[in-house]
Amino acid sequence: MTSDGVAVGELDSDAVDRARAAAAEADRVVVKAGTNSLTDEESRLDRVKLDKLVADVMDLRRRGKEVVLVSSGAVGAGIGRLGNGEGIVDVDIDRGSDIIDERQALSTVGQSLLMRHYTQSFDRYEQPVAQILVTGADLDAPERFDNFTKTVETLLEWGVVPVINENDAVATDELRIGDNDMLSASAAIALDVDLLVTLTDVDAVYTGNPKRDPEATAIEAVGTNYDAVRELIGDSTATDFGGIRTKVEGARDVAENGTPAVIAGSATPDVLDRIAAGKPTGTLFVPTAGETNE
Ligand code: GLU
Repeated sequence: MTSDGVAVGELDSDAVDRARAAAAEADRVVVKAGTNSLTDEESRLDRVKLDKLVADVMDLRRRGKEVVLVSSGAVGAGIGRLGNGEGIVDVDIDRGSDIIDERQALSTVGQSLLMRHYTQSFDRYEQPVAQILVTGADLDAPERFDNFTKTVETLLEWGVVPVINENDAVATDELRIGDNDMLSASAAIALDVDLLVTLTDVDAVYTGNPKRDPEATAIEAVGTNYDAVRELIGDSTATDFGGIRTKVEGARDVAENGTPAVIAGSATPDVLDRIAAGKPTGTLFVPTAGETNE
């Protein structure tokens, strides 16, 4: 299939416009940031990237929106801190660690570094933050799910920005949500948000892997063309854990729940402000169930 097969022209352009307007008007937003959007090539937390993300989130806060941040980077930051650089743990910075026990322990080192940086960075705007660590089991157990949503509701009422990550220290292979793309989609649905934005190191969903395929073109919107999109990206990144495939699946889950979602580049200038201004940004997932989640 060529990129024409997923051209936005196939979609109802009114539906795309409505979804873009709904995304712009969202009162409550989940923003998900991946490890690559927060760390440098040595896997250390990159303060410039993190400050940019925080500035982007503050653009939404200034517009009066409630923001829940789902942040990865704990394992990555742990590798950056204890990996080959300091020689405490023999982890290859380029490849990371594929030993699950080691990843769990590294996450605990990285998570506290991550929160230190977030707290300092948000402090520049006098914006309080909170840390919430959850597992798939927490969201599946009705009582814990209830406590999770109540805690977040209270924090949002207080104007706090909750920063959520998977509780990697206790999550097991079976219980792990799998990755934060699915966690952010579950959180978006559980918290009844109006928009999910997944920030990544490419600026949109492409018809192929843009890092390997120069012919790959950006897909402006995903709706009735979902199956074609799924097929195109399925091959190129099927084995890429936490790659574009899970981001697309997470965004689609949210769209099927009646809420718009956007996958966009964390490096794009003013990325969240652009979305809030209704400017075409990244790849927009058009809600399929009803109109929007208003
Ligand atoms: N929870 C993991 C971390 O903070 C990341 C999982 C993911 O990237 O999806 O390192």
